[in-house]
Amino acid sequence: MGKSLPIFQPLKSLTNKLGFQQNVTRFDAPSQGQEGPGDGRTVDDFKPYLIALNLTKRCNLRCAHCYLDATTKMGGGADELTTAECLRLIDQIAEVNRGSLLVITGGEPLVRPDILDIAQHAVSQGFMVVFGTNGMMIDDRMAQNLVEIGVMGVGISIDSLDPQKHNDFRGLPRAWEGAVAGIEACKRNGLQFQVHFSAQPMNYQELPEVVKWAHQLGAKVLNVFFMVCTGRGEELTDITPTQYEEVLGFLVDCQDQYTDMLVRARCAPHFKRLAYEKDPNSPITKAQGYMGGGCLAGTNYARITPNGDLTPCPYMPLSAGNVREKSFVDLWERSDIFDSFRYPHLKGKCGDCEYSDICGGCRARPYVDHGDWLDEDQWCLYTPKGGEKIKVAFNVPEATLVEWDEAAQTRLSRIPYFLRAMVKKGVERHATEQGISLITIELMEELRKKRFGNEKPVFKF
Ligand code: SF4
Ligand code: SF4
Repeated sequence: MGKSLPIFQPLKSLTNKLGFQQNVTRFDAPSQGQEGPGDGRTVDDFKPYLIALNLTKRCNLRCAHCYLDATTKMGGGADELTTAECLRLIDQIAEVNRGSLLVITGGEPLVRPDILDIAQHAVSQGFMVVFGTNGMMIDDRMAQNLVEIGVMGVGISIDSLDPQKHNDFRGLPRAWEGAVAGIEACKRNGLQFQVHFSAQPMNYQELPEVVKWAHQLGAKVLNVFFMVCTGRGEELTDITPTQYEEVLGFLVDCQDQYTDMLVRARCAPHFKRLAYEKDPNSPITKAQGYMGGGCLAGTNYARITPNGDLTPCPYMPLSAGNVREKSFVDLWERSDIFDSFRYPHLKGKCGDCEYSDICGGCRARPYVDHGDWLDEDQWCLYTPKGGEKIKVAFNVPEATLVEWDEAAQTRLSRIPYFLRAMVKKGVERHATEQGISLITIELMEELRKKRFGNEKPVFKF
């Protein structure tokens, strides 16, 4: 900790102005009757477990980086999905996987007057529901409402520890004070919160201090987002690939230093490669069964735009179709665009790379740069060494002599799909090391407490 990050050296932004030409390149989906690409995956591996519902373009702020180019509070609502359409969409997502984590976001989702009804419906369908918000509309009453509805938590964005910098970036005086007041309201009312920080040239050097601050504040998760210059952020510059590498290395080190706070890099998949390079047994890589983080666009992650388009991720306006015209089920299961993410033929160094299965690079950056989302991720500095590909743990069943009793099995089955393999592996490893032959609920609880103390399980997205 305390390591200072180097002074930002401006680099020409790699974004260009090609426009979002939908350059659908060839890909090989499995042929009829074939279950998957022949590496052990099945359609179950492609269930959505994280869906971003961008339910409004309306916002009470005007942030420089907004990928939606969100419009002001009064406008932007004309073509939004209606309440009834949102509820129907949620029912359709439930048909595919009601174990998904739904991230209700915008714009600023809390400016949408029916948003709590929509959230309540999602919770009643069994979804884990969280909000991505700027925090300014969260007072005690709102926090209580969210708790009562059963919302798991909120992610609140902070762009700088310097209020002036945050406010300038967010386009509103006192936005910083509003966000911090929102966090305090969450704390008072027992609503879990995560801190979200978007790493940019103007703030990335603050990261060591932000990590400390978030930890002191009591955050259980700090998500550091790496921008893709699109939407209103198209005019911004990103940090350089060298700076990425340094920041990501710093974040990997934070995993060891903050055992009671998860520090995650979002939308910088080579975080996984760096974590693996440091420790091949790192619990945060897909090689150990942790399927969160990294890039899940189109495989287990999708975004709904305010007017109902289904896209693989918020930074790629590549639409599989619109939920006003087709069911979410059809769009998720039968889309050439989504198949190109599930059975990708990656190009350039990402195609050659031994980390491609557990990393694979960001697909949005080459898309934004030149329209080909299967091309290499130029923000990664790694040169593939040509070794054997490192496998995702889901595809590598492990022989174990340890057994699970019925109650422990039931509990395991309730753990979100994307964390289950990691938890299973971790508990089995512990049991084997300790010479325990039967896994019970008590053992699972003991291990959970070791990791998180007496508090509720932490929500992550
Ligand atoms: S394509 Fe890039 S921006 Fe989209 S989810 Fe993947 S890593 Fe994030
Ligand atoms: S070259 Fe591509 S697949 Fe390999 S580590 Fe870099 S981004 Fe990941």
